[in-house]
Amino acid sequence: MPAGEYDVVVLGGGMGGYVAAIRASQLGLKTAVVEAAKLGGTCLHVGCIPTKALLESSGLFHKAGREEFGLTADKLGFDFGRIASRRDKVVDQLWRGVPGLMRKNRIDVVEGRGSLADARTVQVDGRQLKARRGLIVATGSRPRPLPGLDFDGERIINSDHATLAKALPKSVVIVGAGAIGVEFATLYRQLGVPVQLVEALDRLVPLEDPDVSGEVAKQFKAAGIQFRTSARVKAVEETKDGVHVAFEEGEPLEAEKLLVAIGREPLSKDAGLEAAGVNVGKGGFVGVDEWMRTSAQGVWAPTPRPTRASWPPRTSPVSARPRWSRTWSRARPTRSPRSPPWASRSPRPASRDARSRWASSPSWPTVAP
Ligand SMILES: Cc1cc2nc3c(=O)[nH]c(=O)nc-3n(C[C@H](O)[C@H](O)[C@H](O)COP(=O)(O)OP(=O)(O)OC[C@H]3O[C@@H](n4cnc5c(N)ncnc54)[C@H](O)[C@@H]3O)c2cc1C
Repeated sequence: MPAGEYDVVVLGGGMGGYVAAIRASQLGLKTAVVEAAKLGGTCLHVGCIPTKALLESSGLFHKAGREEFGLTADKLGFDFGRIASRRDKVVDQLWRGVPGLMRKNRIDVVEGRGSLADARTVQVDGRQLKARRGLIVATGSRPRPLPGLDFDGERIINSDHATLAKALPKSVVIVGAGAIGVEFATLYRQLGVPVQLVEALDRLVPLEDPDVSGEVAKQFKAAGIQFRTSARVKAVEETKDGVHVAFEEGEPLEAEKLLVAIGREPLSKDAGLEAAGVNVGKGGFVGVDEWMRTSAQGVWAPTPRPTRASWPPRTSPVSARPRWSRTWSRARPTRSPRSPPWASRSPRPASRDARSRWASSPSWPTVAP
């Protein structure tokens, strides 16, 4: 095959992309993967792996202090700097293994930001990669901000900031009690940080079954994690020492930092999807069928497909018209995305399968009292 020509080209080298590339190659297809940042994507660098490394440390510290295990120490403590170094080491070690995986599977890695010129062509820094058999768009997502309230990385933070932090916050309000919010509530509480978790809907982990929410609430109560459900954020203001978060009803909360964990938004905007004839929904979600085929023939996208039941995301903690303090942002609030075109015909709850896998993985955090 001439240089620059492949059977399959994968745009995005995260878990969705590079694993798809390996499978394509195992099936005998000449494959390239295009990555703008680091192979491994969110999961390896700011998601599953570093958070589980942190939770491993916090869990050990928490357990060691529990009488039932019979351990004694004059003074049990921790050094967060070393916890963070271990986190970085774990990620680095795994990341260094990925190029080897690519070589072993004879996958070409093309560094750079790519975009689709058409349903058979990816452009990367002036180069053209031709995909004879198929093109896979796996460009992933990034943390979603509260409308009109940008992340500053200092007081208003997202999961990337929290995951990569070199120090613990003195106290934190976490908005959004989905998987990510609950994980950070666990981590912080186990390390002694005062946590206040708020959720707009009427239960914690609202995308899970109600009995799971009940169990998490029970465990959190016993562990001393303060949480509030049916709490919609109305305004956020900067104070001398941190943030002041007001709600539509009930008392405001204050903390050093506000961690916004209300979900993620797709990184599909500049990938040239429309040029290739891919149907992109309002919020940037790529419409796929149960085989992850997009509306453009030969273009696939590994994306958890929102079902009617889970769309719009039910963890959204904001009211329809939030009022943010001008201190934080002058941008006008945006509307919630409307149902994407495929939401009305979802034969199989693909996103639910994905969620169940995550929830049932051994790394799902638990906080024992
Ligand atoms: C805090 C946190 C904890 C999590 N914990 C878990 C867990 O325990 N278990 C679990 O199953 N999941 C977990 N997840 C979810 C998991 O990280 C994601 O499901 C997974 O990363 C999605 O993979 P992806 O390949 O679709 O996207 P990503 O991992 O986001 O990868 C997309 C890649 O595409 C690249 N890219 C984007 N645009 C372009 C372009 N134009 N050209 C070239 N490259 C591009 C990006 O640089 C990125 O590397 C967690 C997520 C977070 C945020």
